[in-house]
Amino acid sequence: MGQITLKQVRKAFGDVEVIPPLDLQIDDGEFVVFVGPSGCGKSTLLRLIAGLEDTSSGVIEIDGKDATGLPPAKRSLAMVFQSYALYPHMTVRKNIAFPMKMAKMPQEEQDKRIASAAAALNLTDYLDRRPGQLSGGQRQRVAIGRAIVREPAAFLFDEPLSNLDAALRVGMRLEISELHKKLATTMIYVTHDQVEAMTMADKIVVLRAGHIEQVGSPMELYRNPRNTFVAGFIGSPKMNLITGAEAAKHNAKTIGIRPEHLMISRESGTWTGKVGVAEHLGSDTFMHVHSDLSDEPLTVRATGEFEIKYGDTIHLSPDMDKLHKFDAQGLRIA
Ligand code: ADP
Ligand code: MG
Repeated sequence: MGQITLKQVRKAFGDVEVIPPLDLQIDDGEFVVFVGPSGCGKSTLLRLIAGLEDTSSGVIEIDGKDATGLPPAKRSLAMVFQSYALYPHMTVRKNIAFPMKMAKMPQEEQDKRIASAAAALNLTDYLDRRPGQLSGGQRQRVAIGRAIVREPAAFLFDEPLSNLDAALRVGMRLEISELHKKLATTMIYVTHDQVEAMTMADKIVVLRAGHIEQVGSPMELYRNPRNTFVAGFIGSPKMNLITGAEAAKHNAKTIGIRPEHLMISRESGTWTGKVGVAEHLGSDTFMHVHSDLSDEPLTVRATGEFEIKYGDTIHLSPDMDKLHKFDAQGLRIA
């Protein structure tokens, strides 16, 4: 079981309210990602759930029981940090066994759990090595293994992949997703990286300045962002947000259109512009098109290779079904 409910949970450090009163429901077995810019309160929220910080007010329930005052060790949650914090002089086996040894668990049960965690994490052949003899990704897996053997109600991850290089991050992202499928245990995962949020989450919680801006599945957030903040934050490259006269034509303060929802023509279209920088990735071509619509260039995606020169004139037509409209407060117009 790993159902977590936050009711009007608030956190202030001295006079500074970092998390205004907030409600959130996390269901058993869900993979929930807290995402938002640096400093928005993601780690604080996770630490409140873990019990590493005290709430200023409000209630945290774990599996229907009030856990607000419980110390971290009594919450049956396991936290995995960005820094692996492994014991360098101990083997992988001993590192993984450590929490069980502390709990004086029978050796037989320890061995069983180590074998099963090692199998889930592809560490079986590395159990007798020391952390210094492992790659960064393997070390991170050992840290996760140490969490798995505790059989927690939920795993809490705080930017666990930030220390890894880009290629390794993609690999570990897949491994953690796969682990979630195998264990079917609740996971709460904090990241500032919206691509990690989109690829891993069942449910994304977008945070800004301690506020929940929107909660939903990756595709709900992609298709129906509640406001311009979520619209601009979720999706890569970013949604084009256009204000001024063009938006007014649609009775909106701001209109939004994603790079993949602009049709490109060399002959004619709704909007006209000049191509600035084009990024040729092979699988896609991203063009930055300067137009009268806004000071910012529009980002446009063409699938595959698209032959274009700097300064070429190009015509763009938005897919009207995919046009987003927002009011003066930045809220989506239904
Ligand atoms: P994130 O993880 O999203 O980057 P944090 O939760 O670490 O953000 O921080 C949220 C805000 O709370 C920041 O403004 C940060 O400076 C502040 N903060 C975090 N921890 C403390 C603390 N122990 N004392 C005072 N302010 C803190
Ligand atoms: Mg943080």
